[in-house]
Amino acid sequence: MAGRSVLIQVASSAIPAYVMQSCMLPGKVLEGIDRVNRNFLWGSSENKKKIHWVGWSKVTRPKLDGGLGIQAARGRSTALLAKLNWRFHTEEKAPWARVLRLKYCNHQRLNSRNSNKLSTSRVWKSLKKGEEIFKKGTRWFPGADSNLDFWQDNWAGIGPLRQAIQGPLTLEASRIKVKEVGHFSGWDWDMLQMELPKNIQREILATPIPLAARAEDKLAWKLSAKGDFDLKSAYSLTLSPSSEVPFKGKWIWKLNTLPRIQSFVWQCMHHSISVRECLTARGMDIDNSCPICRNGPESILHALRDCPSARDIWHQLGVPPSDSVFFVANLKDWLVSNCNSKLRQRAGQLPWFQVFLFAIWMIWKNRNHFVFKGTMQYPNVAKEILGRVMEYTYCAYSHTAVKRMMMKSIRWEKPNSGWKKLNTDGSSADSLGLAGGGGVVRDEHGSWVLGFARKFGPVNSFLAELWSLRDGLLLCVDCGPKSKR
Ligand SMILES: [Zn+2]
Repeated sequence: MAGRSVLIQVASSAIPAYVMQSCMLPGKVLEGIDRVNRNFLWGSSENKKKIHWVGWSKVTRPKLDGGLGIQAARGRSTALLAKLNWRFHTEEKAPWARVLRLKYCNHQRLNSRNSNKLSTSRVWKSLKKGEEIFKKGTRWFPGADSNLDFWQDNWAGIGPLRQAIQGPLTLEASRIKVKEVGHFSGWDWDMLQMELPKNIQREILATPIPLAARAEDKLAWKLSAKGDFDLKSAYSLTLSPSSEVPFKGKWIWKLNTLPRIQSFVWQCMHHSISVRECLTARGMDIDNSCPICRNGPESILHALRDCPSARDIWHQLGVPPSDSVFFVANLKDWLVSNCNSKLRQRAGQLPWFQVFLFAIWMIWKNRNHFVFKGTMQYPNVAKEILGRVMEYTYCAYSHTAVKRMMMKSIRWEKPNSGWKKLNTDGSSADSLGLAGGGGVVRDEHGSWVLGFARKFGPVNSFLAELWSLRDGLLLCVDCGPKSKR
């Protein structure tokens, strides 16, 4: 399954991307693409149906939310059309964008009562289908001479401000521009003729106005670090808010092991491998007792841990029979804690998580061999497991260079004679959405000259550092540029 999921991502969901970039495919086609991918993932064909162990809506979530990172056709299509919107706004001078703008953004159309009913081209219709996600994902950063509308444009990162306040505005107030309220030195609240709620004020305070006089308004994609469009995050915006994230799954794909074992762990986390209990839960009419020991129902934990034959293997691998945590934990806790364990195997020097991963995989293979062929595949499974782990660790670890750490002590040093030195710092309590920072200017003797401290809006630590630096530099500029650095 590991290989098939990669093939879907690079081939079958990539092929329609070219067409999807400029038009919305009909619903039937999108469903067809999903069906082909779904059947391929689980190995179904026209004559042979296989169980689709994990639902398509879970498979198509990001890996972080317990999915496989495969994109559903409709979401992918919408995300690509959001990208078309992005290009429409950022490539203003491109001929295609100019034609569309002249044709569909003229006064007549914008002022018509039901502009949605006017006939339009397929590209424009498709563009509109990506608009919602585009608006969700973007914001403006106002320039020094901003043309942005204070109430209607999304420049404070919380959507148009008009939606955040209630009640009517006077004509004059409704036409106010961002540049009339915000200056690089601060915000002139009196211009608004009303008081904004405190949480909105905080968001606005966290919005920087550039110092360069000719800086233009800039469109940015909110979900990427550099502000450029990012398809993956656009896709995640098309997903319905995940009320039922089954588990956070990023760690599975970071495990240093074989991809097929990663997929196996992923299916176990979804309670979806073909043990008898899972088969009966899906409506199959079979005896659900363990095919090896015939003692009790065969759950995933029974097959991999609690069956006497599996228990034996764990003991041989060094888990003491009295280990109350190992043999008591529920399935998810058991997988998460052992796969992320930093311990070494008791008898040798092998990393325990490697031993554990190969062990569940080989125990599972052995069980299947017994069920389908009537015999155990390996007479001595524990030895086989340790052999494979050694082989894998030798191949996987031998090329990784050893990182060397250098300890270096740093301390504050005085500036040269005649100079002054500015030091700033900022930090944020992300969970509370509050940030602050400050700085000091000291002279050649290390004596205090100037200082400042203030609260920023809800920004992260990195931005808080930048805000402090900016404030510090502005302070220095204000107090005379003669001898500062
Ligand atoms: Zn059993």
